[in-house]
Amino acid sequence: MNNSETSPPAFQWEDWYNAIGGRRIKISEVENILTQIREHQYPRFKGTVNSERVEFSSGALASEAVKRKAFELGADEAGIAEIEPGDIYQGREVKEKYAVVVAQRMLWRSFQEVPSNDSAIECLRVYFSLGEVVIRLADYIRSLGYACTVEHPIGDSDVLHVPLALKAGFGELGRHGSIIHPWMGPLFRLGSVITDMPLQTDSPIDAGIAAFCDNCRACRIYCPAKAIPDKRSPEAGKDHLGNDRYKVDTGKCFPYFATHNYCSACLPVCVYHHKEWARDFDGFTTKLFPDVELKDPPPPVDPEIPKHWYPRIHR
Ligand code: SF4
Ligand code: SF4
Repeated sequence: MNNSETSPPAFQWEDWYNAIGGRRIKISEVENILTQIREHQYPRFKGTVNSERVEFSSGALASEAVKRKAFELGADEAGIAEIEPGDIYQGREVKEKYAVVVAQRMLWRSFQEVPSNDSAIECLRVYFSLGEVVIRLADYIRSLGYACTVEHPIGDSDVLHVPLALKAGFGELGRHGSIIHPWMGPLFRLGSVITDMPLQTDSPIDAGIAAFCDNCRACRIYCPAKAIPDKRSPEAGKDHLGNDRYKVDTGKCFPYFATHNYCSACLPVCVYHHKEWARDFDGFTTKLFPDVELKDPPPPVDPEIPKHWYPRIHR
């Protein structure tokens, strides 16, 4: 199956970085994790498929087994979606029918100050840790006798994790362009394993989150690059609930993101974190609201808002 006409191009990380003068974030822990992903995870993407296939009596039982394994391996959420052309990046071809989508939450305590070294390291920690989940889950699926492909969370994947995760019932699309999960909020990362193993798919949810976003603008107010829109964009396609999507301006986001420790300010300021259940309790004292530091702010880009509102805003 090929991509649809409206599919976005695959991430060309190096081209994107080159366009802003190259990679500039230099944090040794981040570099170490990137090296580990390249050297210890990429070579484990492929594996041998067991010639003796385990036949499940139903797709439901097969899905249950695969999801149970995903949770056992450390996923915080797992679900199944059927892959459609719109879920495939431009120029990529996918033969598999299903995506097993997995998520792992990032720790709130690492996003107490954004952008920061802590938040950048936490993003990479979860890319590695979730990378282990998808690699080992793929090994498990092959051990059952089914071929599959690893779609690593760090990027350069064939499929778009976000629409697949929405179809798999992970939550709803927020104004900031990330999925908001009913209990994890938006602070999590996604990865997938795609396969032809006959599986039962999950269903999207409507928990009222997208409707809530229509009245809340916390992420838009705090976005240093003013990349988060005020209104939904009819030309940006529909989300899984049939709403026009909010279209984050990546041309504004990326230059800031790539020069300020992967920014991510829109995630911890999202009000879906400001709930008791979304905080880390295991022995850590955490704050309800993060400190957002606007280092080296870009010039205001929204003519209607002539100044940035960082770092003080009364709420
Ligand atoms: S990552 Fe930062 S610049 Fe990009 S949309 Fe989020 S808050 Fe804005
Ligand atoms: S901060 Fe508010 S508007 Fe932005 S994604 Fe979260 S709930 Fe939606």
